[in-house]
This record gives sequence, C-alpha cells and structure tokens, in this order.
Amino acid sequence: MSHVFVLDPDKQPLDPVHPGRARLLLTQGKAAVFRRYPFTIILKEAVPSPQVQELRLKIDPGSKTTGLALINDATGKVVWAAELQHRGEVIKKALDDRRRVRRSRRSRKTRYRTPRFKNRTRRKGWLPPSLESRIANTLTWARRLLRSCPLEAVSLEVVKFDMHLMQNAEIEGVEYQQGELAGYEVREYLLEKWRRTCAYCGATDVPLEVEHILCRARGGTHRISNLTLACKPCNDAKGTQLIEEFLSDRPGVLKKILAQAKAPLKDAAAVNATRWALYERLKLLGLPLEAGTGGRTKWNRTIRGLPKTHWLDAVCVGASTPPTLDIREVRPLFISANGYGSRQKCNVNKIGFPCSKPKGARMVKGFQTGDIVRAALTSGTKQGVYIGRVLVRASGSFDVRAKQGRVQGISHRFCTLIHRCDGYSYLKGAGHSSPV
Ligand SMILES: [Zn+2]
Repeated sequence: MSHVFVLDPDKQPLDPVHPGRARLLLTQGKAAVFRRYPFTIILKEAVPSPQVQELRLKIDPGSKTTGLALINDATGKVVWAAELQHRGEVIKKALDDRRRVRRSRRSRKTRYRTPRFKNRTRRKGWLPPSLESRIANTLTWARRLLRSCPLEAVSLEVVKFDMHLMQNAEIEGVEYQQGELAGYEVREYLLEKWRRTCAYCGATDVPLEVEHILCRARGGTHRISNLTLACKPCNDAKGTQLIEEFLSDRPGVLKKILAQAKAPLKDAAAVNATRWALYERLKLLGLPLEAGTGGRTKWNRTIRGLPKTHWLDAVCVGASTPPTLDIREVRPLFISANGYGSRQKCNVNKIGFPCSKPKGARMVKGFQTGDIVRAALTSGTKQGVYIGRVLVRASGSFDVRAKQGRVQGISHRFCTLIHRCDGYSYLKGAGHSSPV
C-alpha cells in the first residue's frame, strides 16, 4: 500500500504514515478521515514540535498519462505513486462538435451581421485546450500534494535528450560507452534519428550496433555526425572499409546516409511546448525545480531493472534519483480526469434539434453526478453495500457504479457521501512486488 497522508489539526502536513498505523489512529479515535482521494487523515490533537522528512514530487508528463511519485530522497523510499490519465482527446472532440454546430449558421437565413475583426488574437504562450487541460491536471495534483504532505522539491522530465551533455561530450572527445549516461543518451538519440533501422540494409526489429561511418581505425571520431546504426551482418561486412567503398554499388544509399548523418535531429531540439509550459508554471509553486531528460529517466530505470510503467518512470526522473529505491508495498492510484460534465442545457438529435427537456438541477438531495458514495441496502433484491460513482436523477432514484457493476435504482436515502465530485475518478492499482 502507498502511505497515508496525515494533517495536524491546523491542516498542516505531517509525515505520511503506513496504512496500518493510520488504521490504528482511526480506530483509537485519534484521527478522522479528511479526504478519501488521496487518502488523508487529520489528527484530533496537535503534535508538539513535529519533525517532518522532506519529500520530492517527481513528474513524468505524457500525452495520455502522466506518472507521479513522491520520494524521500534521504532514504530512497517511494511514499506514494499515481498515474494520471488525461482527457485531451475528449476535449478535442467536444470542441470539434461545438464547431460543427456553430457552422450551421452559415447555411441558415439570418440577418446581416458585420464581420468581427481584431477579436481573434491569441495571447502569448497560448496552447490548444486539449494540451492546456494536461497542464492543468498535473498542476492540480501538484497543488493537492503540496497541501497533503511535506513537499520540498519537484523533479520534472522536460526534454527527450540532453543535447548539452551530448554536445559537450562531442567537444571534449569523450568516448561513449554502454552503461554510461552519455553513452545511453547517444544510443537513444541515434535510435530516434535513424528510426530504429539499419542504415545500410534497412533492416528493422534486429539488434542494432552503434557504427562509426569513418571507422575508428582510420581516425574516425565519436562525434554524433560520424555515428549511425547498423545490424551485426552489415557492421561486420563493412569492417574497416571506407563507406564509399562499402556502398560503391549503392550510390543512392550512400548519398542518403551522408546527408542524414550531418543533419541534426530536429525534434530533439524543438522541445515539447507543453512540457516547458508546465515547467514554467510549476516554478510558480516556489519549490526548487529539477529538470530531467528522457534519456536519464530510461537509464535510471534500466540500471535498476524496473519495468516500464508511468509511475516507475516518474520515480526515475532526474539526476537526484537515489541509488537505491524502495518501491515495496507501493500501489499506485490510477486517476482519470473526467471533467465536470458539459454546459449543454438539453440533448439534441443527430441534426441538432433539441429533443429533451432542459437539464434539471445539478444537486439532487445533496448529491451530484460524479460523487463517490457508499450505499448500504439492508433488504430487497439488491441487498448489499455498494461503493462507487453515483449518477443522480431528479426523482431521487440513483445509479451507483460499484465494483459489482452498475446498480440501478438506489434511493438517495441509502447513500452517504464519501468523496465529493472533483472532476476525477479513482482506481487502486496493484503493486510491484520485488524489492529494488
Ligand atoms: Zn544491415
């Protein structure tokens, strides 16, 4: 289990505790549940001069899923982890739908309206709403964690490759070796640049070797522009030949390789705008912010023998990653962004005509769709306890999406609120058992 967050009576964060300890505090009546997701308890009596251990929040932003992890840098203990699923595609679809409906004006007969100019500017740093929502989701969770635990630093994976490190190595003539960080980043860079294919025969899905275009024996350097990827047969066949000799019968391939070797990888330099925007906004939290590279994340993860998941990638972000990581008992929380519903006031049919009554009030008997409730039914065919997301109806007859499936027609009288709708839904994940 991931640890449980603890607040003192003034809502100041204390050290997260093991779930067993939290359970004891709750049964002894020394604490109460403050928030269900992330699970937070609040102590009833103040702790005199509390000592807190500083935690670091690590973020691996992705287009669909962002990994989050809280780590104690001093001990290497992973305290909490989560995978945050974004809803970028849903937002894009909603905007496309809206645009389609508004377009219909053009084919309708309407009075003349003067064209509106000069109201179509976009502010500096504007991002499409789908990307903006990814940043907003991540920031929301960074702020929530800041309120729930003693957070002292943040690490964020910002770029794919460390161009600076590679250029320095190039200038200083460092030999790239497997197992070294610079070597690792170079290999990843080359795989991307040469699209994971053998430069000479175009073979894919084969083990590729880093190959010097002008071989070492003839004074070839380790500069990136002298490196390419080749499969073992091609690499052996070329040996110490000059590339012009080796490819004398294939002038087209020769020309392509020489041109591609000189050209730097464009995407690596043109960094992801979303990640930098997130970096700038995380800075405003006022915590020390560390920028990591994708190459280093993968290197950190590989040398520790960890499988690839979003939350373990987050654990491995940045140079600050402790040498030994304790990820035992960590069960990531799977968070999905759902939004707060739409502003559309009634349903429309396929050609856009209203076909239902206006939507009713959002709150029904103190509940709203998206709340997480506990429904305890003591009699009848649906007898049992159901915990899950609720869908409210004005009649007071609700549906609960519980572990057992969707249960329809539960009266509001049997429901108790356990987590107010906050735009996200939650699922507890399985842990990674082997200690590292
Ligand atoms: Zn080959």
